[in-house]
Amino acid sequence: MTKRDYYEILGVAKTATKDEIKKAYRTLALKYHPDRNPDNKESEEKFKEAAEAYGILSDEKKRQQYDQFGHAGESMGGFNQGAQNGMNMNDIFEHFGDIFGDIFSGQQASGRGGRKKTKLTPKQGHDLQKEVSISLKEAFEGVKKDLTYYHFAACEECSGSGAEKNSKPESCTQCSGSGQVFFKQGFFNFAQTCPRCGGEGLIIKDPCKKCKGQSRIQKYGTISITIPKGIFDQADLRIQGKGDAGIYGGTSGDLYIKVHVIADKQFHRVNDDLECTIMLTYPQLVFGAEVDITSIDESTETIKIPQGCKVGERIVIAGKGFHKIRGRTRGDLVVITNCNVPKKISPKAQELLKEYSAEIGTETSNRNGGISGFFKKFLG
Ligand SMILES: [Zn+2]
Ligand SMILES: [Zn+2]
Repeated sequence: MTKRDYYEILGVAKTATKDEIKKAYRTLALKYHPDRNPDNKESEEKFKEAAEAYGILSDEKKRQQYDQFGHAGESMGGFNQGAQNGMNMNDIFEHFGDIFGDIFSGQQASGRGGRKKTKLTPKQGHDLQKEVSISLKEAFEGVKKDLTYYHFAACEECSGSGAEKNSKPESCTQCSGSGQVFFKQGFFNFAQTCPRCGGEGLIIKDPCKKCKGQSRIQKYGTISITIPKGIFDQADLRIQGKGDAGIYGGTSGDLYIKVHVIADKQFHRVNDDLECTIMLTYPQLVFGAEVDITSIDESTETIKIPQGCKVGERIVIAGKGFHKIRGRTRGDLVVITNCNVPKKISPKAQELLKEYSAEIGTETSNRNGGISGFFKKFLG
């Protein structure tokens, strides 16, 4: 039977470095490992073949000899190690088993062996979300609200340990406190999270009766929150530590409160300005006026309407708008003028208005929809 070239077996170049040879062998050995290919003769042969090739090429002296004389060199001594008739499996594992070491050692190193824990791993509690609706007035002035919500609170009975008073979590007997269980298959070491303690390495033997060992209990609690003046619609308030309590003494999550500001009929907000409309009579617009209005916070503001004021004029009262959420200044109160057109007026007012209309030469309809005034005169 002609023997295949060792370089060819490992699929490396003749100039391959030690590392490349090792890597190539490891890849093949894992591929053809009997644990992965049970009762597969062909795999076993390939596995042995690769081991043999690696046995020669990983050894500098043997590799040199092989490079010079090929397989013939094997009879020249120094090739004792089972090269002639193939190695048996035990030899392979014994000699080259360590090549897999670094694949699996990673898992072993991550096990919690060595330093044993005395406390269960604390876990942080979840953040929670709540919503609150407030009026525009409340957003303007700031407001305190009481919110009720379900959340986990640390169990007071066991101070969040989950264990009954005067008892402590004990080392898990299945994993000896390491949190991982190992088992061997062939020369493979497998590590798995301990099914008994879930990887904690500790077991609460005597769980707290109040929280049943959970270290926290669900509560329907009330929290009083202060919503600052100037808060915007859709703003999120974060209340630190008021989310779910952590497990086994872990830190609590935060409570996030989304604020909805309900639209107001009279006022609305534009950036930090408070806007509203003021209804004025035509004479007020013509002659100008001083008009008192009640702002959103019930304060009285005197608005000065200039003479000959147009409809839609923006009269700005500086610093009477929303408090800025950042900084100490305030936005403005903006009053937009509009003309109040009455549906009904007294006969005298009608008379005067008609007179006025005629005076300035405008065309108006009479109450029946007919044309009156200047045009009527003209047509008549
Ligand atoms: Zn408890
Ligand atoms: Zn365990």
